[in-house]
Amino acid sequence: MEPPSYEEASRHLSVQLAGDPTQPSPPSYTSGQAPSVVVVSQPQPVPIQVASLRDSPGFVRCPHCQQLVTSNVKYVAGSSAWCTCVILGMLGLICGFCLIPLCMKSMQDAHHSCPNCGKKLHIYER
Ligand SMILES: [Zn+2]
Repeated sequence: MEPPSYEEASRHLSVQLAGDPTQPSPPSYTSGQAPSVVVVSQPQPVPIQVASLRDSPGFVRCPHCQQLVTSNVKYVAGSSAWCTCVILGMLGLICGFCLIPLCMKSMQDAHHSCPNCGKKLHIYER
């Protein structure tokens, strides 16, 4: 019994290494189903114009920081309050009484400012 030649041996080996045609495909990793995100949509109140602010806090979009804010209001005695004070003083009324307009909210200007950036939004003058 002669040993197989080198040529025969190598051919036999190559057949064995020819490969398995039925290679298992790599497992496919499906990313699965993403958890559904529930988006709660809240109806946004419509901001009013800064110029249409009156003597009460209003919901506006700040022109400085572009945020939707409810304006802070500070009441400052305006020119109308001072005029009323002077008129009352000229009428000879007592001084304590003529200072009333300076304390009355309805006589004061409303200074609106942004609670977010602190900048002045609008001054509502009487
Ligand atoms: Zn702002």
